[in-house]
Amino acid sequence: MADTRITEVAKERLDSIFESYSIIADDLDVFVCDMQFNYSRWAKELVDTFGLPSEYMYDAGLIWEEHIHPDDRAEYRKGIDAIFLGSQPTHDMQYRARRPDGEYDVCTCRGIVILDGYGKPAYFAGAIRNHSKLSYIDSITGLRNQYAFFSDLKSYIKKKIPVRIGMAGIGKLAEINAVYGYDAGNQMLQHFGRYLMDNVTSREGTYRLDGSRFAIISETRTEQELIDLYELLRSFFRKGVRLDDNVFVLECNAGLLSLNDFNIDDQTVYACLNLAYQESKLIRHGDLVTFRTDLTADSKKNSEKLYAIHSSISQGFEGFYLLYQPVVDASTERVIGAEALLRWKNEEYGVVPPDVFISFLEGDPLFPELGKWILNTAIEDAKKITEYVPDFVINVNLSYVQLEKGNFPEIVREAIKKNGFSADQVCLEMTERCRLLDMELLRNVIATLHSGGVKVALDDFGTGFSSIGLMKNLPFNTIKIDKSFVQQIEKDEREKRLLCNFTDMAGIFGADVCVEGIETPGMRDIIKDYGIHSFQGYFYSKPIAIDELLNMVKSGSDCFARQ
Ligand code: C2E
Ligand code: CA
Ligand code: CA
Repeated sequence: MADTRITEVAKERLDSIFESYSIIADDLDVFVCDMQFNYSRWAKELVDTFGLPSEYMYDAGLIWEEHIHPDDRAEYRKGIDAIFLGSQPTHDMQYRARRPDGEYDVCTCRGIVILDGYGKPAYFAGAIRNHSKLSYIDSITGLRNQYAFFSDLKSYIKKKIPVRIGMAGIGKLAEINAVYGYDAGNQMLQHFGRYLMDNVTSREGTYRLDGSRFAIISETRTEQELIDLYELLRSFFRKGVRLDDNVFVLECNAGLLSLNDFNIDDQTVYACLNLAYQESKLIRHGDLVTFRTDLTADSKKNSEKLYAIHSSISQGFEGFYLLYQPVVDASTERVIGAEALLRWKNEEYGVVPPDVFISFLEGDPLFPELGKWILNTAIEDAKKITEYVPDFVINVNLSYVQLEKGNFPEIVREAIKKNGFSADQVCLEMTERCRLLDMELLRNVIATLHSGGVKVALDDFGTGFSSIGLMKNLPFNTIKIDKSFVQQIEKDEREKRLLCNFTDMAGIFGADVCVEGIETPGMRDIIKDYGIHSFQGYFYSKPIAIDELLNMVKSGSDCFARQ
């Protein structure tokens, strides 16, 4: 029980100890108790999360005990008594604590008794780690992390506060990690983070997002001021950062967005910012790219369209649908499968083809959800076709970001099982953008998919630099030769020779060949002689709705041999 009410002087001292602890506590939640008055100050975060009466409390130990799970209470009481009776100088225990919604969070509580000048216990100070709470601090740079970024961004949107958001990153961090080790990479991140911290004011937030990317949210600076800041940062890191005997010249990339429209969600803002960042990285050699929502009518419309498509993902995938382009056997010219191709449509914008939005959505955390929906829908539809074409194979396009997720093979397995489909009638198409992933990871994913019976194809063969390397390293079942290699085949001898080489190579690696983009009977007649397994193209059919495909196989018009 409290001896007397705490004095002003004692309260000031308590505050000062509390504040010192809080500074060094990172994202732990601090508490300090003046043991003479049994008066405590607890972190606001704990007060809010657990519904405690106030940051300042007499008898906080007793109040807190009320929140502790009945099974953990006896242990807790023993620990606290030992502290207050002086038999134990430190406290270290784990228990479950109840939130106002009745759920329990697992917490670790560590504390220490601070003695006064006479050796008498004066303060009990410590910190609680709530294991259910996402950490808001990045452990490498000490900056706030992406969870903090999203949480702050949500709050700006909710309060309708206009802000400028910049995303900046180090261009070749992966190479530094690979050549000099993660420690060197981490030190580069720390330098970058430090630079940002030193150059922001208290009305601005600095965050480390994932990988090599950082963000600033500013209430005060204009777009131009942020552009100027980026130019300074860029020339600073271009001069090089010294580490041991090496000087690392860092190239940077940056995207910028002004948040003035509050009818959008945080994920959409992030996706647009990321789009600007990717453009800076891939096309503009690191020049800052501003995501424009306010310029010409055209670009405004384009941004709004992307907003709308993005929002559809979180609205039950409304507007997304799949078309199916038949794949025919090269010798019988009967439909043996189809490729699922994504579309998006709404009243205002009409039908939007995937090229417009896939790369925009790919960088987004919601994308794997869309990927899962595509997979499920395609398998569900394919199941209907197998009634008429029992061996029908459904091809589904993948993006490399789906493969990055550890549970991807599991998602595929579930979709197959849920629909009672046969795994060896699913073929997943990967493009050469997969080379962005770690080769070992790719090999593991493909091996796991194969062990479940699922087939894997390399799409757009020949269009990238690493097609051959990928084919050599990964056991693809099918190689899909890009339409650009056969477009002129009726007139161009070189295309014939290339096609011949490609099919030879696929043969060496034991893969089937599918040629895409067959548009005329002439093309078909020539290509037929090259030992190809299957064809796809407008000559046979454009991508069509599932009902049309069903009608085609039902009515027997799925055989094109005599045309
Ligand atoms: P892709 O995987 O190479 O798909 C084939 C594209 O070629 C389709 O364009 C198809 O309509 C078009 N095509 C088919 N036959 C012919 C032909 O004879 N001549 C010509 N000129 N074109 C033909 P689409 O549907 O616009 O898709 C474009 C790309 O978008 C796809 O290229 C694929 O990379 C991507 N994509 C489509 N659906 C998905 C999806 O569900 N997931 C992912 N990750 N990407 C998708
Ligand atoms: Ca494809
Ligand atoms: Ca293709």
